[in-house]
Formats: sequence, C-alpha cells, structure tokens
Amino acid sequence: MKSFEFKNPTKIIFGAGEIKKLADNIPAGSHVLLAYGGGSIKKNGIYDQVIAATHDFKITEFGGIEPNPHFETLMNAVKIIRDEQVDFILAVGGGSVIDGCKFLSAAAFYDGNEWDLVSKGLSRKQKKILPFGSVLTLPATGSEMNSGAVVTKASTQEKRTFGGPQYFPLFSICDPTVIQSLPKRQIANGIVDAYTHTLEQYLTYQHDAILQDRIAEGILETLIEIGPKVMDNPSDYKAASNFMWSATMALNGILRLGVPTDWATHMIAHELTALHGIDHARTLAIIAPNLYKKLFEDKKEKLVQYGKRVWGLTGESDIEIAEKAIEMTVSFFHSLGVDTKLSDYTSEYKETAQTVYDRFEERKWVGLGERQKVGPKMAKEIVEMSI
Ligand code: NAP
Ligand code: FE
Repeated sequence: MKSFEFKNPTKIIFGAGEIKKLADNIPAGSHVLLAYGGGSIKKNGIYDQVIAATHDFKITEFGGIEPNPHFETLMNAVKIIRDEQVDFILAVGGGSVIDGCKFLSAAAFYDGNEWDLVSKGLSRKQKKILPFGSVLTLPATGSEMNSGAVVTKASTQEKRTFGGPQYFPLFSICDPTVIQSLPKRQIANGIVDAYTHTLEQYLTYQHDAILQDRIAEGILETLIEIGPKVMDNPSDYKAASNFMWSATMALNGILRLGVPTDWATHMIAHELTALHGIDHARTLAIIAPNLYKKLFEDKKEKLVQYGKRVWGLTGESDIEIAEKAIEMTVSFFHSLGVDTKLSDYTSEYKETAQTVYDRFEERKWVGLGERQKVGPKMAKEIVEMSI
C-alpha cells in the first residue's frame, strides 16, 4: 500500500429522528445562518424539525441555493454573513447546499475576488473560515463528510471544484427517513453518483491494497442490491439507511487511502453540466462507460476483477468479462431510469466536445486520471464517443 495520512474530523449523527440533536452540536451562543435550497424542506417537514431543534439560537435564513450552486447566488449570502456577523452556517440540503456552504465558509473572511478561491485554488490557503454543519437531505455526494465542493459561475458557464482540509463539516446529521420525499429522479441520481465515486477510486490498476478493493466492492454490491428497493419504496428503512451510509462511505476519504484514483470522469462530466445543465449524476453515467472503453487496455485487469467479484461474471475470456462489466454498469444505470448518451438529454451537442477540449487546454489539464493520460484530446474523444 502507498503511505498515507488520514484525518476526518466530521462527526456523523446517523439515524431516524436525529435532527433533534442539532442544538447539542451547534456551538453555544452562535448566530446561525440557516442555508437551504429551493424549498423542498418546507414541504417535507425537515424545516420544521430544524426550527424546533434550534429555538435557542439566533437564526438568519438564506434560501434559494439552486442545484449546482451558483457563485452569484452564494455571494448574496456572503453579504448577509458579513453584514449580520453570522458565526455558524447550518446547511440543510443535498450536495448543492452543502457545497454552497463550503464556499460561504471560505469566502466569509476572504478579502479579495471570491471567485479566485475556486478558480485559482486559493480556498486551500484561506486560514480564517466560518465553521459549518449540515443536515443531509439527499444521499449522493458525500459532501456531508468530505472537504471538497463544486460551484458554478453562471455568467461564464464554469463549474469548478475546490476544497481544503479546513472545509469538513463540524457535524452532519444523516436521517435516512428524509429520502421519503425525494423524487425518483433524485434517488436515481444519488445511487449513480455514489456508485461512480466508488468506481473513480477502484477502477484503476492492480495494486496491493486488498482491503481498499474489498471496501469498494462492498459499496458497489450494496448499491446494486438496495438501489432498486429504495427506488421502489423509499420508506423501506433497511434499504434507505444502507443507501445513505453507502453514499457517505463512497466519498469520505476512506476509499482513496493508499490507492491510485482516477476522477477524470468527474472532471469531463462537470463540463456537460456547466454547458447543458444536465444533472451531475447523469453526466457521470454519460461519460464513465466511454472513459472505460477508451482506457480499456489500462483498466482491463481491474475491469475483470470488477466483473467477476461485483457482477459475478464467469466462464468467459478475460476480455469478454471486462467488456461485459462495462455493459452491466450501463444496464444498471438504465435500470434506474438514467440515460447514458448526451443526445438523450440535449440536441445542442455539436460544439460540446470541442469546448471541452478548449477548456481542458486553457486550464492546462493535460494529465488527469490514474496514469495522467487524460488531456484535452482524450477528453474530446471521450465526449465524442458519448454523444
Ligand atoms: P442537489 O443539487 O443538492 O439537489 C437536487 C434536488 O433535490 C433539488 O431540487 C432539491 O430541492 C431536491 N431535494 C433534496 N433533498 C430533498 C428531499 N429530501 N426531498 C425532496 N427533494 C429534495 O443534489 P445532489 O445530487 O445532492 O448534489 C449535486 C451537486 O453536488 C452538484 O453540484 C455536484 O457537482 C456536487 N457534488 C459534490 C461532491 C462533493 O464531494 N462535494 C461530489 C459529487 C457531486 P431543494 O433545492 O428544494 O432542496
Ligand atoms: Fe459526484
């Protein structure tokens, strides 16, 4: 195994009804910014639970954080934080709200052009940040237990990642019953995002970190087993709770310890959301299978292991097993109602591959992936295969 250091300071409070524990976990006496999305929490009772659990705190609300949170929207919250001297942020939502709050945490005390925190990676250098916690409403991103985030600048259609070890939530409350109000589309998105996070840290090349592979395979197998059950009946607590914990485990830093990681699927896919507004998970379902085809020779051994262990494929040649493993992945996404071609989502794809090429070139992204092979040309070819 490669050497590693690991520290994840986020306290996870997991289980039905646990939102009531908010008051014990927000620092006493805080003026809290309660940040949320488009209002689903006001319809499903989560907002009421949060308000009931925080009546001892001064609360200022900021709603309206959109999916793929916009820098422009978030800057309105930064103003409130500064004007009203907020000292704690409570994110109540999915990945978009939690990621948005990571940006607020970074920007609150930053004295400069706040977009540089994202585009120039300056978030990492920001020492004084605003602490935050979360109430997760959508299992998918792992943002509730990691220190990364993705923010979109709407004016230029740029979707960029940022982060740093300072941006772990202080705590996250993960109540699996919140998924009962999720539309099927979002449940499917959550399953596909968590599945792909696992593959990004697993489908690379053979290494000697045996336990890491087994943990990844365990998450994949769990998602395959419980995915259809959650889709069928989000009130099935056994399925819902295993779904929620799988999504957290897929991206809380444990899977990547001591192993190579890919992430090229995410970096290409972000451009499809930035350009066409397609849901994050669906862009992953479009790109991932084609990236595996493009890098088939490099990933072949791991695809065989994935095919045999996760999908139980036997009896064929290694090449057939590896090819079938990609097909099984696509079928799994389809079974959740997730389409896997760019043209299934938009007819305006003519320029997309070239724009991805130009953006990769401009950002000097010449060596993404576990073997640093994915640059502008390969990213363009993968998008062309995905149309
Ligand atoms: P999301 O964008 O946070 O939410 C999607 C939709 O689901 C929203 O319309 C939201 O409505 C609704 N929703 C959330 N919880 C609900 C509930 N309990 N009941 C009913 N509706 C609910 O989705 P997400 O997939 O969690 O986050 C996607 C974002 O995270 C993308 O920007 C992606 O790039 C990013 N991401 C981050 C990481 C990371 O590590 N930080 C990893 C992968 C992806 P409301 O707005 O009304 O609440
Ligand atoms: Fe993701």
